[in-house]
Amino acid sequence: MEEVLDSLGPVIEAHPDYLPVVKSIVEPERIIQFRVPWYDDEGNLHVNRGFRIQMNGAIGPYKGGLRFHPSVNQSILKFLAFEQVFKNSLTGLPMGGGKGGSDFNPKGRSDSEVRRFCQSFMMELWRHIGANLDVPAGDIGVGGREIGFLFGMYRKLANEFTGVLTGKGLSYGGSLIRPEATGYGTVYFAREMLATRDKSFEGAKVAISGSGNVAQFAVEKVLDLGGKPVTLSDSSGFIHDSNGIDREKLAWVMDLKNVRRGRIKEYAEHFGCDYTESQPEPNLNGLWGADVDIALPCATQNEINGEEAKMLVDNGCIAVAEGANMPCTPEAVECFHENGLLFAPGKASNAGGVATSGLEMSQNSLRLNWTREEVDRRLEEIMVNIHRNAADTAAKYGMEGNYVAGANIAGFLKVAEAMEAQGLI
Ligand code: NDP
Repeated sequence: MEEVLDSLGPVIEAHPDYLPVVKSIVEPERIIQFRVPWYDDEGNLHVNRGFRIQMNGAIGPYKGGLRFHPSVNQSILKFLAFEQVFKNSLTGLPMGGGKGGSDFNPKGRSDSEVRRFCQSFMMELWRHIGANLDVPAGDIGVGGREIGFLFGMYRKLANEFTGVLTGKGLSYGGSLIRPEATGYGTVYFAREMLATRDKSFEGAKVAISGSGNVAQFAVEKVLDLGGKPVTLSDSSGFIHDSNGIDREKLAWVMDLKNVRRGRIKEYAEHFGCDYTESQPEPNLNGLWGADVDIALPCATQNEINGEEAKMLVDNGCIAVAEGANMPCTPEAVECFHENGLLFAPGKASNAGGVATSGLEMSQNSLRLNWTREEVDRRLEEIMVNIHRNAADTAAKYGMEGNYVAGANIAGFLKVAEAMEAQGLI
């Protein structure tokens, strides 16, 4: 909340009538919490907690991912849902903000166990969502496999085929480029930011954290633009490959993570490079000590603290773009700003995922499938527009180069106008 509200001072000065909006916008419209009972392969009963935060529906149906991770609780989901409101507004598409998930840990669970969990989760959630009401997507621990199981159960319960979830498989209404969108979008945004200083990815060494959906496709787009990704991580540790992670190695990582569901440590064993076990929280420390030009944190929140930010600065890093949601703590962001680094907050730079989800919703409504090139062209255009909007808004309010303020203000203004027009209800 503080991160957003700190930016809004100049807006409230210019529009004192928006003060009631601020009071209202911090409170979720609705929180749904439910029990998720499921049986493991040995027949033991487990009971997890399920959540959906319907944060703000003023500009469109609630939209935001589902996260399955043992750390999930109402507080984390409220933070993510709040971020999502501004992010979705920035995309220019008509989507409100929401977030949900469960404290279920899919790691080490069989496909059957994951299927039973997803079906039980949807047995409760289905009555609260809908193509014109609330359209969940994936997030940490929820990829194509989980979305498939969730969609199947929704279809059975609602007895209709609608675009109620995004991130679906291609054979049943998914959009090309959706899996790639968040990673690609983050790199498109970083490219735009670098261009303002006549810099580019060409020949740049890039630190990337995580090795899931966002990280994998960030690596791919960095390679497309001539950069050299050198790190990847998971919650057990990180690899540093000074020879660079090329396309062949990336394909191996995708198989490791998406098919074999293995650990990143195996990369170091297979390709022969450095591997460092993670320390207790924040558990990626060490990774940001790499000597790189650009950093793309793509794992989870609070990955880069003030000290780690200083390490990046001291090593000559010039730009940081968040692929994950708020991986940089407020101290880290302050350090980047003080030292003149280009810094892209996730609500702007990782908005490509939800934007492409918006494109999936449009295709579902139109009963059409756009080509890969068409979706990628629209994604790139949206990221260029978000960059321009955040940069221009920051400049307009006297904070040139501050993408945090620009994104927060631009995202807020559209939602505030809609809320005010609707009588703040
Ligand atoms: P995945 O589950 O595919 O990958 C997450 C990666 O981060 C894994 O490598 C995971 O390691 C690692 N990770 C997760 N939690 C921790 C932790 N506490 N400490 C260290 N490493 C951790 O998720 P996504 O790639 O989809 O999401 C990554 C981030 O991007 C999240 O912040 C998400 O909210 C954000 N995001 C995702 C979007 C999307 O389209 N998918 C859209 C916008 C934002 P391990 O496997 O060991 O858990």
